Amino acid sequence: MTGTYDWNPMPHKLDIKCPSCSNQALFEFAEVVRIQLKKDVPFFQQSDIFKYALLKDGCGHKWHGAIYFANLHGGSTDAITNLPENYAPEDWAHSKHFMTNHSYCLGDLGAFSCSNCHTRKPYELKWPDDAYYSISYKGNLLWAFNRESAVDLRDYIASNQRKIEGFKWATFLLHIPSVFKKQNARTDIVKKINKTLAST
Ligand SMILES: [Zn+2]
Repeated sequence: MTGTYDWNPMPHKLDIKCPSCSNQALFEFAEVVRIQLKKDVPFFQQSDIFKYALLKDGCGHKWHGAIYFANLHGGSTDAITNLPENYAPEDWAHSKHFMTNHSYCLGDLGAFSCSNCHTRKPYELKWPDDAYYSISYKGNLLWAFNRESAVDLRDYIASNQRKIEGFKWATFLLHIPSVFKKQNARTDIVKKINKTLAST
């Protein structure tokens, strides 16, 4: 198990290992809005805030996109001002971003910010390799999206029952591969997860 847990929706923000210093950093996916009129393209090309890109849809049609990295601007759309007509800053607010539904083909593009080394940069996510809360057990990688889901994961593995009810990250727990849920794996895995939780 090294890939993404099947269909699981990816949260918009993830805890990752900082690509610069390996401490815990925050990753947030970028948002893209289609530039409807050609006359608006130069505004986005010249903007310091947006990244302009010529993108391709599923049928191979090209379209103009204005990409915004909220994580480079304090996690909000407040930095967006003086837009051309018919655009609003909220257009770039996070709506939904699922690994399985990349209708906008932005892939894993986003940005990370690290409070340890103070790096803030656009970044292409490599999941689950980048996961901060991840442990290796018998050659298999067990990961969680963030601290909260890592705590749920630890409590779920530690419990005698395999009931996901009552956990906030129940749908995530539902897809944990069985190799991690075996009784003889429990102590070892719980110990390892606790170690990563203690390091932050
Ligand atoms: Zn860092």
